Amino acid sequence: MKIICIGRNYVAHAKELNNEVPDEPVFFMKPDSSLLRNNDPFYIPDWTNDVHHEIELVLKINRIGKNIEKRFAHRYFDEIGLGVDFTARDVQQKLKEKGLPWEKAKAFDQAAVLGNTFIKKEELNDAANIQFKLNINGNLVQYGNSNLMIFSFDDIISHISKYVTLKIGDLIYTGTPAGVGPVKIGDRLVGFLEEKILLDFEIK
Ligand code: ZN
Repeated sequence: MKIICIGRNYVAHAKELNNEVPDEPVFFMKPDSSLLRNNDPFYIPDWTNDVHHEIELVLKINRIGKNIEKRFAHRYFDEIGLGVDFTARDVQQKLKEKGLPWEKAKAFDQAAVLGNTFIKKEELNDAANIQFKLNINGNLVQYGNSNLMIFSFDDIISHISKYVTLKIGDLIYTGTPAGVGPVKIGDRLVGFLEEKILLDFEIK
């Protein structure tokens, strides 16, 4: 399986990092070795001083597809979960300045946190109106809603599949809302999709 992440999919987040609002989806990938599951603790690597949390809705692909038309894209996932796209912001900033790829900042071990529970689409009132949020030590730090995405789930699936064949079990992290910031040792991160807690883990 592979992990595909969308960048800059919320206007307020693109602006907080002084990035342009894109006119087509921006995506990058993480390897399967970056997955962190079961609410296991996240260990801050020793080569960065600025790991940021990015809470994101995650789609799980349920059939193989290439060149998927937008009108059929909804058939390619039936579950939505929650993840954190950890980003070594200091490393990413240096790579961006040099025009280099982001893998060191995004694809490292444990950088793709994933909740164990996925919610079936039919259990949600409206996939285009899903609230999610991240609390750290009980304080709200990020709040998002899928209705604020620049590119919808269907846009994303259609666009990615022009370039990359989607396979069963692939994960798509659909971008983070505003409010990203650093984590520190001892923090407890709790992620909610609607009212359900899908993530609850510590930083070590
Ligand atoms: Zn992200």
